[in-house]
Amino acid sequence: MIIGSKKRVYHREPGVGYILNRPEFICHLARKAEKLGTIIQTDDKIKTINDLDGKFIVDASGCPSTVKRELDINRGIKGVTYQQTLEDSNYFISDTLKVIYTGNFGYYWIFPRDLKKKELNLGIGFSGNFGYNLKNMLEKFKEGREIEGKVNYVAGGLIPVGLQRPLMHNNILFVGDAGVGTFPFTGQGIYRALISGDVAGRCIARGYPKKYPHIINQKFIKWDLIGKTFIRANYIFRRINPKLVLASLNYFTDVSNMIR
Ligand SMILES: Cc1cc2nc3c(=O)[nH]c(=O)nc-3n(C[C@H](O)[C@H](O)[C@H](O)COP(=O)(O)OP(=O)(O)OC[C@H]3O[C@@H](n4cnc5c(N)ncnc54)[C@H](O)[C@@H]3O)c2cc1C
Repeated sequence: MIIGSKKRVYHREPGVGYILNRPEFICHLARKAEKLGTIIQTDDKIKTINDLDGKFIVDASGCPSTVKRELDINRGIKGVTYQQTLEDSNYFISDTLKVIYTGNFGYYWIFPRDLKKKELNLGIGFSGNFGYNLKNMLEKFKEGREIEGKVNYVAGGLIPVGLQRPLMHNNILFVGDAGVGTFPFTGQGIYRALISGDVAGRCIARGYPKKYPHIINQKFIKWDLIGKTFIRANYIFRRINPKLVLASLNYFTDVSNMIR
């Protein structure tokens, strides 16, 4: 992790972090669910909540949630991202995640993806939309560091920052990006999506769906409050002086390591 001129290196025990092959993981989950009697319909875009029935509905439609947009309850901080997947890259390191924070309250990441193809994900994100051209910024970053590789996939778009309330509306429970959002400073996106899906499923199966928001709050509220206060302060700092952003990021990183 690089914040301004300060470089921080963290070592993690094996088994603490994972690189997930999402298509494979989703197929595996689907096969397991089908064996348990779940009816799965693919290629079936839900156009309106009127298409949905059932005693309970779990909305996992990502960011922005289709259901929340229709109901006009799409609240919560949103960030923006842009990512390229580079094949045969000179910057590939199989066991290292790099995050580089900038004074305009953005961050770049370089994550290994596929060892055989020397493939990595290289991205840029901001915890808010400040109107930047992310593609241009990433190209400049690549040039500056002489990062090479064939771009074989591009992704990006909105990213929910922190809890996206409401977590429940009538009989609809919001999970993943639609509900619990992500927490970029700790790298939690898929992790939170998995946890919230699991909690929602258990709450419904065990007959206490209304406890879902409470359980999620218990798990995530502390970092949500700290994180959002930090983010709002940095919306101001970035306009005053980029050095304030970097100083606050260094402070936040020290504090979060102490109280995690
Ligand atoms: C560029 C980028 C890089 C990221 N990198 C990381 C990372 O390295 N690590 C990490 O943990 N997280 C990362 N994240 C965040 C992570 O991708 C999300 O937090 C996670 O995917 C949330 O999962 P989800 O299932 O809630 O939503 P999604 O993965 O967005 O899935 C939503 C699904 O709902 C479907 N859907 C949407 N609308 C409808 C509809 N109307 N009808 C039917 N289906 C619909 C979509 O097709 C999609 O399959 C990244 C995000 C971005 C944008």
